[in-house]
Amino acid sequence: MPTATTTFATDADLLAAIQPSSGGRDIHDPATGGLVGKAPEHTVADLERAVSAARAAQPAWAALTHAERSAALNRAADAVEANAEALAVLLSREQGKPLNGPNARFEVGACAAWLRATAGFELEPEILVDDEGGKAEMHYRALGVVGAIGPWNWPMMISVWQLAPALRMGNTVVLKPSEYTPLSVLALVEVLNEVLPADVLHVVSGGREVGEALSAHRDVDKLMFTGSTATGKAIIRSSADTVKRLTMELGGNDAGIVLPDADPKAIAADLFWGAFINTGQTCAALKRLYVHEDIYEEVCTALTEVAAQMPMGVGLDEANVLGPLQNKAQFDIVTSLVEAAVDSGARVLAGANPESGQPGYFYPTTLIADIDNDNPLVAEEQFGPALPIIKYSSVDEAVAMANGLDVGLGASVWSSDKEAAREVAARIQAGTVWINKHGAVDPRVPFGGAKASGYGLEFGVAGLKHLGQPQVISY
Ligand code: NAD
Repeated sequence: MPTATTTFATDADLLAAIQPSSGGRDIHDPATGGLVGKAPEHTVADLERAVSAARAAQPAWAALTHAERSAALNRAADAVEANAEALAVLLSREQGKPLNGPNARFEVGACAAWLRATAGFELEPEILVDDEGGKAEMHYRALGVVGAIGPWNWPMMISVWQLAPALRMGNTVVLKPSEYTPLSVLALVEVLNEVLPADVLHVVSGGREVGEALSAHRDVDKLMFTGSTATGKAIIRSSADTVKRLTMELGGNDAGIVLPDADPKAIAADLFWGAFINTGQTCAALKRLYVHEDIYEEVCTALTEVAAQMPMGVGLDEANVLGPLQNKAQFDIVTSLVEAAVDSGARVLAGANPESGQPGYFYPTTLIADIDNDNPLVAEEQFGPALPIIKYSSVDEAVAMANGLDVGLGASVWSSDKEAAREVAARIQAGTVWINKHGAVDPRVPFGGAKASGYGLEFGVAGLKHLGQPQVISY
């Protein structure tokens, strides 16, 4: 197999490699409105060809050893690193996220890190029984063809979260990126396919109808979906006839609870990035902050000071760490939720007044205090740079408000006393509860949602098992 070299020196080289020979749909930069490039408009017929090719390639890929597939994933990580800057610039131009901060370069780095970590996990058969009566072992076999449908917020990284464990387990993969960010995923696959065997990884860049066809496809054994809860429910329905295996990473509305003993100044920067990473467009971002009345004003002040230091603007400008909303629909959601909050009498600490007439979908960093828990900005997923800060007086009340929604992806507890924080964490209904941080994912640590935030786990050995068919051998 070829080794990784810098094939794509610039984003223009990458774009040239993925441009359709004719036709295609214009993709615009959400920061400037300028044309980034054209995305091929793949159809359900293209999807059929991709699934057939992936199916044909799967037995030979599954016949390799784990060590051989791990070596391929490590080469894929090398390829990402060798082409990292071109990937980051294209991602920034299409998605809008700045190059710097926890954004485009960080996302490309995470792609390489997740590929390498996934290559390194040990997955041995488990001995379930071994006594005079006999033996029983649990093995994890390849499933076959895995379909993966992704969102527009972290398009490259989430694609790697889906494809890396799927490939490692001997499956072949067909990706369907969001129609908002197809170029990022096409470019990533172009780079990965420089070093992967032919046909183990396909990408079909179509719209919702291609996603629907993938989720209902008879020759797709498992579907990994990351996106909104509403679409997740539609996919569960359309996959039912084929009894497809599913991993559902859906929407969240993560609560953070600041206990009265927390140090407002010490936690303010981590609170800020927990909420505003990727300009708030992150599944497990802190989306509602509950602060004890004793330190409420201090936390509001400390957060406002941090927010004032974070430049927002065009992603290719090295100074910026916050960018635009990725699309007009999301801009409109954030605008209307903040308007409703302001109309209800909530207090604006920062932001809330987007400039009109600018080319990009920039929404200012917004902090809203003195807001009721049932306000739509609290109760609905804003998925943007607007954080509501709710005052509470008892921990029981804060826990009840945190658990009051039907979603439960992540949550966090902030305190100077880790044991006290762990006790509160145990009472929160969420797949992950962080203490004194929020949203910090790690390729070794399983991640998944509670309640309507989904089911199935990603990352770590547990994540590998979700991409395998469990098989008991009993003798
Ligand atoms: P979305 O649900 O609108 O779209 C996601 C993908 O589903 C797109 O590729 C889209 O084309 C496809 N799709 C749409 N309708 C479909 C259908 N009927 N059948 C099959 N596919 C269909 O989500 P989005 O707006 O791109 O992403 C934002 C949402 O994703 C937020 O709610 C966010 O919280 C969530 N998210 C969750 C995680 C997680 O790990 N839990 C990670 C990132 C984002």
